[in-house]
Amino acid sequence: MKCVKCGEAAYCSGFCKEHFPQYLEGKVRQAIRRFSLLKKGDRVLVAASGGKDSTVLLHVLKKLGYDVSAVMVEPGIKGYTDKNAKALAGICSDEGVPLRVIAMESELGMALPEALKRLPGMQACAVCGVLKRRIINKAARGFDAVATGHTMDDETQAFLMNISRNDPRQARRGGPRSSGRGFVPRVKPLYLLKDGETRAYAKLMGWPLYYGRCPLAVDAYRKNFRDFLDALEKKHPNIKDNVIAFYLAEYWGKEKGGEPRVCAKCGEPASGDECKACRIIGALGAGRAPSRAS
Ligand code: SF4
Ligand code: ZN
Repeated sequence: MKCVKCGEAAYCSGFCKEHFPQYLEGKVRQAIRRFSLLKKGDRVLVAASGGKDSTVLLHVLKKLGYDVSAVMVEPGIKGYTDKNAKALAGICSDEGVPLRVIAMESELGMALPEALKRLPGMQACAVCGVLKRRIINKAARGFDAVATGHTMDDETQAFLMNISRNDPRQARRGGPRSSGRGFVPRVKPLYLLKDGETRAYAKLMGWPLYYGRCPLAVDAYRKNFRDFLDALEKKHPNIKDNVIAFYLAEYWGKEKGGEPRVCAKCGEPASGDECKACRIIGALGAGRAPSRAS
């Protein structure tokens, strides 16, 4: 296959190594404009993990001229998040992006692997995700937006998972931009990009990233949807684009629910009287999984 711009050998998505970065950066610009994600001069906090997606995100936003800082919540997973934190520190230093690393231990009282031993039956990613969200929300005060590295792959999987769980409310809450009282707006500038494209860009940049999988991730349910969509995409190349187009037309922005409430314990946004993070922290003290956290 040849590059659609110059006829040289294509590297990814029909572009050669010289033209592919311009294509990817153009897709980020397109998402920012189409979904009104950011304004020029915005102070943007990138929720970074040291993985390929958030690293591409911080690099491209910086290149597009935004005032970018990064925050990494470090769960303390030896052999994984420590490697990611090291790679991220080097890249942020090269890019001139201020980086703040916050240990999950500061919120949980212990590293994630230790906490999970005391929360039988709870999935690592559920606990990790809830705690990360709260820590990032606190760290984001004073910024105009928090940017996350969610790609079209993440978003199509999440949408199909919400359908399969018959959870239209959760589906309507997602999308490329979300905000609510107490939350700094969250934006997803990689919304129009696929995982293969962010991987190809990261490899082209030569960043010393760790591409291994998290040893605690056992989200078999999501993996089923990832494998299903990837297999379908081989025969029908536009399938993820079509799922996202349908989602945007029929679900995004249609949530008419009331204002989010505030946690009675910590004052952070919550869907009930107590936020999920406080329920997890409470359960840790009691040595059992929280009854309603997911
Ligand atoms: Fe946390 Fe899950 Fe990511 Fe591992 S894969 S760092 S447990 S959210
Ligand atoms: Zn709380």
